[in-house]
Amino acid sequence: MQLHLRGLSKRYPGVAALDTVDLDIASGELIALLGPSGSGKTTLLRVVAGLLSPDTGRVLFGERDATRLSLRERNVGFVFQHYALFRHMTVADNIAFGLRCRPRARRPTRAEIARRVEELLGLIQLPELGGRYPDQLSGGQKQRVALARALAIDPGVLLLDEPFGALDAKVRVELRRWLRKLHERTGQTTLFVTHDQEEALELADRVVVMRQGRIEQVGTPDAIYAAPASAYVFGFVGRGNTLEGSVRDGVFSTRDGAVTLPAPGCEEGDVVALLRPHELQPTDADDAGIVGTVLATRRRADRITVELALGEAAQPFEWDMADLPGVPPPLPGGQLRLQALRARFLPRTA
Ligand code: ADP
Ligand code: MG
Repeated sequence: MQLHLRGLSKRYPGVAALDTVDLDIASGELIALLGPSGSGKTTLLRVVAGLLSPDTGRVLFGERDATRLSLRERNVGFVFQHYALFRHMTVADNIAFGLRCRPRARRPTRAEIARRVEELLGLIQLPELGGRYPDQLSGGQKQRVALARALAIDPGVLLLDEPFGALDAKVRVELRRWLRKLHERTGQTTLFVTHDQEEALELADRVVVMRQGRIEQVGTPDAIYAAPASAYVFGFVGRGNTLEGSVRDGVFSTRDGAVTLPAPGCEEGDVVALLRPHELQPTDADDAGIVGTVLATRRRADRITVELALGEAAQPFEWDMADLPGVPPPLPGGQLRLQALRARFLPRTA
């Protein structure tokens, strides 16, 4: 099922929850809607589902204008962050719910429903648990059951609103890999909402980065990460340092002279330099680079983050050094000179 969103807007008093959103989703695509809290992700999902009417714009399911259709008429599957399983029903009854609620003419027979439930229990890898109640399941298992319930009606589109948001970090990672594999089997057109960039990058065919009700950038995970369209996307999709300066004769420098970087082919003028903390290394060169004073070091699981004060920059600059034997982190107070293994430059607009 293809999905086309055309000029969708939705206002609440004092806030544009959606602001002229346009998006085309191919059949079978898994799209991640990525943005901070309040950027309009849930509103967009609810508009697609038919739980909320947009002020303006249209939702097309394939050729069909679905803007005025109800949730049921749209035949979408929905999973929320908080387990919305019926507590008084077994897992099997939860999964069967959508099929049993169909009007008689379209309702499968009991035997067909039972077969479909078995099939879905296999798909979510919980074949033995049909007789359990939701309270007897782990958080991750509950979300898999919620997914099976959403899939039972064979929806045209699957809508997932931070489905793993309430789970602990390790289970989240397992479940997103599992969901990716499941998607490869089912080929279900899917919109997956998350505020977690790692989840979006690892899971999606394409990532839609949202900001204040607008789409800031759409692209494959590689494209979004490698070529962010704005400093906002750069900062949201991965960690990053931004430095204001200017480019003259193929060289970027900050006004205070703390940073000088080669910027071959970059247009002259005021720019923002974007530097990933792990794309830097110490250098012995004494004429260029990033020169700063070590403020602090922070231990992380697989590296050490070194915070530097650079010239007049208000924000500490971050370098992620690999945590390798025999390479001690620098001491606070010392001077450090880094070179950039990769730098990106964007024109400064505002
Ligand atoms: P997200 O899911 O990205 O966190 P939402 O779509 O929930 O964002 O919200 C987008 C914006 O719309 C926020 O500023 C939010 O406060 C506002 N908003 C959402 N729903 C309502 C509502 N029912 N009434 C008023 N404001 C709302
Ligand atoms: Mg939300």
